[in-house]
This record gives sequence, structure tokens and C-alpha cells, in this order.
Amino acid sequence: MAVLVTGGAGYIGSHTVAELLAKGEEVVIVDNLQQGHREAVLGGKLYVGDIRDDAFMDTVFQENEIDAVIHFAANSLVGESMTNPGKYYDNNVYGTLRLLETMNRHGVKRIVFSSTAATYGEPESIPIVETDRTLPTNAYGETKLAMESMMKWFDRAYGMKYVSLRYFNAAGAHASGQIGEDHDPETHLIPIILQVALGKRPHISVFGDDYSTPDGTCIRDYIHVSDLADAHILAVEKLRSGSESGIYNLGNGQGFSVKEVIELARQVTGHSIPAVMEARRAGDPAILVASSERTKAELGWQPQRNSLKSIIASAWSWHQSRPNGYDE
Ligand code: UDP
Repeated sequence: MAVLVTGGAGYIGSHTVAELLAKGEEVVIVDNLQQGHREAVLGGKLYVGDIRDDAFMDTVFQENEIDAVIHFAANSLVGESMTNPGKYYDNNVYGTLRLLETMNRHGVKRIVFSSTAATYGEPESIPIVETDRTLPTNAYGETKLAMESMMKWFDRAYGMKYVSLRYFNAAGAHASGQIGEDHDPETHLIPIILQVALGKRPHISVFGDDYSTPDGTCIRDYIHVSDLADAHILAVEKLRSGSESGIYNLGNGQGFSVKEVIELARQVTGHSIPAVMEARRAGDPAILVASSERTKAELGWQPQRNSLKSIIASAWSWHQSRPNGYDE
């Protein structure tokens, strides 16, 4: 039986494909390559196309014996979701609807879903647990929450079981050096900081230093992308063993401010990395830090690469070896 990975040519998707291949799984990948990179797919069978295209997806399900889907294909930029929400409803919400309908047509009843801490919005308390209130502050988080709700109702109606993994901030690169983060345009903090270290940008803009945090900058929980990938495989195994649906946080449980991340990157790279204070970015909550206790207890997940310095170091190796990403 094969695992279908939608968005498997993207950042987290490609790392998950790598882990699935290492486990000896048969892997089928669907990606429209809007954001993904063909070269990021280290193996398996890649189909280039869109999850919203039913005829294309029917072929994928007909040609392969798929027993579980890991669903990454989505847009995931907070800032863009605030200026172009329709794109998020189309690709994320409508795309997931089409995928679930297609799965149902083909009798596939297991899905692991790429969700986000952005579903919580401004947290009621820290660390965030899965039973906390969900009140997204941006359209991206709202669409991911809608996708989770859709899966809940498909479970009720058709017994389609899901595991939704709410990631905090993914960072780092694969130990092999073959794959890493490459978005165009890049908007994420750590890769942008490292582009400054590489001399590709003059400075890092810090979006707001007037938050109610100790140094005034936003606090996030950074988690290594390969630790995220591991959780997806545990989730597939859990669903294959006949488990009920569930929602799980994936984070290290430790928060770092934007200023602290920049300082650590200075230590890792030996570059000065000039920082310029700027206005807040729309939609950003002040603090997002996970409790992943439920995930550890129920999925048996244990992050292996949890020092932020080593996470930044793994990203730095990737960016140094591929300063222009996959396009080089
Ligand atoms: N950030 C920043 N400058 C940048 C990019 C991001 O100050 O050039 C901040 C952003 O406001 C947030 C944190 O860094 O508080 C992490 O942002 P990122 O986009 O990496 O991830 P997100 O938390 O949005 O998923």
C-alpha cells in the first residue's frame, strides 16, 4: 500500500517524503509545483497536478493502491492571507474539500493533515494545549481551522479518520544536505536572517518591538522540520492501527523572541546580521508556544533535534551550500 503526499515537493512535505522513503514506504506525491520544487522530491512517484482537479486526482488514485494521505498542499503565508484571502479559501479550503471527496470516492479513509498554531489566534494561556479556544487572527489560520472542521464532519458522515498536526514554527534542513527551505518570495524569519548573513539582503526587518513580551518582539516555538516529518509517520501508523481521529500540537515547548533568534543566528554564522525595527505585521499574535504533551503521550513522538542553535545551524548549512535554493 502507498502513502499519498499532497504538497510533497514543498518544504515540510519533501522532508516527510524523505522520512517515508527511509522507512521503506511506497510513496506517491502530488504537487502542482506552484511553490514546490521537483528536485526536493528525493524518491517515490511524482504526479504534477492540482488537488482541485478531480479527473487528475482520480487517475492518481486509480493507478496506485493508496491507503493513507498526508495532506500538505496549501498556501501558508500569514501576511499574504491578509491581503489575498480568496486565494487561501480557494487553494486551502476548496482544495481540501475536493481532496476529501476524491478520497471518499476511492474508499480511502485515513488522512494526516498539516495544520498550524495559527488556528489558536491570540492564546488564552501559554503553553497552548489542544483544547484551548481557537480564534484565528489571520485568514491563513481561519482556512486551516475550516479544513479541520471539514475533516471532523467527513469522519462523522463516512468514518474518514484524521490526525491534524498543528505545527508551531518549522525550521532547519535535512541532515543529508539534499533538501531544505526555499520559498519564493521568502517571508519566514530564519531563512531571511540567513540570507542577510549570506549578504543577499542588507538587514533583517523586525516586525514590531512593542508587543507585551520581555524584549517587545514576538515569541515563537521553533521545531526542526525532520521532527515534524517524524510525527506524520507516527500519525499514519496510528491511523493504520485503527485509532480514532485526533488533533495534536507539534512544538518544542520553548519560546524564542525575534531578537533572540537573530542573536543566535549571529553566533551560528559569525556574521553581524544588522536588524532594523519596523511596524508590526498584520495578523501576528505576540506569543505562540506549544504544549506537545498529548502528542508525546498518544503518538509516542519525541523531538530529537530541539536546540534552536542546532536547528539554525542545520538551516545555515543548507543555505550556504544552496544560496539560490533549488534554482541553482
Ligand atoms: N518576522 C520578522 N521579520 C521577518 C519575518 C518574520 O520580524 O522578516 C517575525 C514575524 O513577525 C513573527 C516571527 O518573525 O513574529 C516568525 O515569523 P514567520 O513568518 O517566520 O513565521 P509565522 O510565525 O508567521 O508562521
